[in-house]
Amino acid sequence: MRNWIALFAGCSVMLTASANNPAPPAGKTAAPVKADTPAPAATPGRTSAYTPPAPQRSKEEEAELELSQKIAQRLAEMREKQKQRVVTAARAQKAAEAKRLQDQKAAAIAAEAKRHRTDWSYEGETGPANWAQMNVEWAKCGAGQRQSPIDIRDGMKVDLEQVGFDYHPSTFSEVDTGHTIEVTVEGGNFINVGNEMYELQNIHFHRPSEERINGRGTEMVMHLVHKGPGGRLAVVAVLLERGEQHRLIQTIWNNLPLEKRATVSPAIVINPLDALPERREYYTYMGSLTTPPCTEDVLWLVMKQKMQASPEQMALYSRLYPLNARPVQPTFGRVIKESN
Ligand SMILES: [Zn+2]
Repeated sequence: MRNWIALFAGCSVMLTASANNPAPPAGKTAAPVKADTPAPAATPGRTSAYTPPAPQRSKEEEAELELSQKIAQRLAEMREKQKQRVVTAARAQKAAEAKRLQDQKAAAIAAEAKRHRTDWSYEGETGPANWAQMNVEWAKCGAGQRQSPIDIRDGMKVDLEQVGFDYHPSTFSEVDTGHTIEVTVEGGNFINVGNEMYELQNIHFHRPSEERINGRGTEMVMHLVHKGPGGRLAVVAVLLERGEQHRLIQTIWNNLPLEKRATVSPAIVINPLDALPERREYYTYMGSLTTPPCTEDVLWLVMKQKMQASPEQMALYSRLYPLNARPVQPTFGRVIKESN
């Protein structure tokens, strides 16, 4: 304000000194002079107290503010993106780990399932040579040393006890198991051997015969499976060769089920005694089931006298099961006894 006053005073002196110019009244002179005088802003630095006009300073600040806001925003965006990347990577890692565990589990289940197959057969991949590998429960099929069937030779001829057959006419049911034709006989039919009673469970067939005697087999064999004390099994084997019609087999063939695994229960009876030859001499040895799980500790009683079945009866069975016999197994020095 003092500057303005000084300037105003200076100008008044100059104007007063000019003789030609009537001096305007003091109050009126100040305004035009002031108006013509260049704005002090045009020469900054003339005074130390000068400050730039408010609008210009605000623009710079605004620009600075805007820039710093943009930088902050950009940084925030970058931080957010980085955070997202970390989250996504963590998620992907978690998913990959979950998949790896799932695959591992599936592989273990598959491996386990592989060792629990039940689809055994008599040929190829699921045939006798692979039974032991197909199911953990079937290890005996490969590692057992008392397996059946065997080639019966060099038997010890002794006075073997007579097997007591306590069989009688019985009702039965019949099923094509997918591995053989099997006849389940009603309870109450027993054999007595080694002072033990074994109850007849089923009668079934194999083609060709599983047993060999001195290297020779027959066209078919009939197995009569019995269960004794503690679940121990005793199997009577009757070799079948071509010849006359077999009465019991004819009754069984007459009642064959139309479909696999379908059970039929005819309203007639069979006498299991008809499954036996006249003479009752036999070979005996300790062996196993000839099908998986190849359970051992089975008492085998192989009748020495063969029975006959007609070519038609043989042909009919071979249409269903041309091959359902396990090959002979090593004897590993087992004792074989035979009736004199
Ligand atoms: Zn059998």
